[in-house]
Amino acid sequence: MCLAEITLFNRRSGEAERMILVDFKKALQGGALDQMIMSTLSVFEQKLYIYPTCLDVRSRSSTSELNKYAKTRAVSKTTLKKILSLPPNTPDPAIYIISGLLPIEAQIDTKSLILFNNICRQNNRSKEKQLAYRQLLIKPDNSNSWYIAIKKLLYKYDFSDIIQFLDNPPKKFEWKNIIQKKVDLYWIHKIIQNSRSYPTLTYLNCDIFLPRKIHPIIDLNNDNNPSKGALSIAIKLKLVTGTFMTQSKRASFTKSEYPLCKLCDDEDEDIEHLLLKCKVLEPIRSPFINQIEDNILKDASISFYKLSTNTQTQLIMDCTKLRHQNSDLLLNRKTEQLCELISRKH
Ligand SMILES: [Zn+2]
Repeated sequence: MCLAEITLFNRRSGEAERMILVDFKKALQGGALDQMIMSTLSVFEQKLYIYPTCLDVRSRSSTSELNKYAKTRAVSKTTLKKILSLPPNTPDPAIYIISGLLPIEAQIDTKSLILFNNICRQNNRSKEKQLAYRQLLIKPDNSNSWYIAIKKLLYKYDFSDIIQFLDNPPKKFEWKNIIQKKVDLYWIHKIIQNSRSYPTLTYLNCDIFLPRKIHPIIDLNNDNNPSKGALSIAIKLKLVTGTFMTQSKRASFTKSEYPLCKLCDDEDEDIEHLLLKCKVLEPIRSPFINQIEDNILKDASISFYKLSTNTQTQLIMDCTKLRHQNSDLLLNRKTEQLCELISRKH
């Protein structure tokens, strides 16, 4: 039995202590877990319980286990998309960038590395530690050994030789901090890099991504009416993640549809037409543009209509991205917040 399985369900306090190996084996076979125990587990641990195999790093090699593991990852992504009211075809990097959450893989890696440190800090005569030394010495890199998996994990997160951690284990909290930094660094780089391969995310400021920090476009802290704000965010999220169905997009999928705007019949309906050009929408648009002019552009003494179309669209979609562009407009953080609120209500 994988050590991780035992440790996770053998917590020092609370009812979870009642969980024994037999229960965990039952869980692996899909049996139900004691309600009392379930209530003491964190959301993350519950997820691991529902798909316990994802925790067992050793067994990822077999195809069926890999499929189960892939399923776990898919579940967490779909759930996130549902929470954000986004369709399933939303690019994956977008949901992490917006929610500030890391993929479940990052959480599992962190837990595994923390468990490894627990073993490292044990007495040199402990069975787990002796097993670690022995397996690392004799097992080849393609082995299914848990310790070899950890060795690879350390390599993934840019750590050097695994043996040094067994010989001189870092203190618990020190190790937690180091891991968090390394894991964050790895995933920030990976997720931002990944986001660049999606042209539909052009308007979303992906470079702002920080783990555990939500993206400004869903930040409700400055909103006087958060419940109403949350409703308007849903549409904005679709626009900014490229999942909003404009007529020109619909026409590219369905032959019977035409890209022409159904409201004005003048032009193809794309994001720019919808936000800036459609004449029929002008009465709705102009009070909003006026608000932007009065509150945001006054200080910069520039008119909205003098800005390039790209800047105009970017200002409405996600104004924080203007920071990173060679834009004809620069906003300070305060005006960025205000601009976000106005464009959200629009
Ligand atoms: Zn139109």
